[in-house]
Amino acid sequence: MPLSEEQKIRYARQLISPEIGEKGQEKLLNSKVLQIGAGGLGSSFAMYLVAAGIGELTIIDNDTVDLSNLQRQILYDSSSLNRVKVEVAKERLNNINPDSKIIIKKMCVDDKSIDDLIKNKDYIVDCSDNAKTKFMVNDAAIRNNVKCTIAGVKDFYGQMITINPKKSACYRCVFYGEPEKQPKKESPLPIIGVTPGILGTLEAVEVIKSLLNIGETLENNLLMVNLLNMSFDKISVQKHEKCICSK
Ligand SMILES: [Zn+2]
Repeated sequence: MPLSEEQKIRYARQLISPEIGEKGQEKLLNSKVLQIGAGGLGSSFAMYLVAAGIGELTIIDNDTVDLSNLQRQILYDSSSLNRVKVEVAKERLNNINPDSKIIIKKMCVDDKSIDDLIKNKDYIVDCSDNAKTKFMVNDAAIRNNVKCTIAGVKDFYGQMITINPKKSACYRCVFYGEPEKQPKKESPLPIIGVTPGILGTLEAVEVIKSLLNIGETLENNLLMVNLLNMSFDKISVQKHEKCICSK
């Protein structure tokens, strides 16, 4: 569908980008993304992706808003306390851009439910806060042949990788650890709010680039961010021949 007059104004600065233009904008408005987690990473990710005009965003999260979240989870504010995160997120995102259809589910994903959720999606993004979910998102992306970006944050540090199923290295190729053997309940990690803010924002631009097939995404590269010394390093990673992504 051609852009409306209002959309031509809303997205004016993207339409004049040689990388995006009307064709790219229409592509974004026709794309469907699945987001796992609506915390610190998920806040900046969802706000920038929706503001850019993604067609549909499905957000999965099972939590309610706690006072200790507000230092970094900028989808929420003091009036959101004790409310269901995805419900507040939907209101906020609808206000940012009514062009984006926001679908919410208050639930914990597992290996089975994620396969239903991922159906007909163009992209899946991990915005969770634990390794177990990141491995699950990785495996579901490969099983269902959907591109995926996974990020993680701690204190002033972040990491991010993009997976093109079967073609590029996956999360398991890089992190061999078996999540089942990790302690069930980790004590809270230190986090400065801007770290998930930046990594979530980078996840949004990664999705936009990947959907529009522009620039270079983090396929076969792990981005290592250190905000204490302001370094952004790309480390080349390789597909492991015995990994699930090679089968
Ligand atoms: Zn792999």
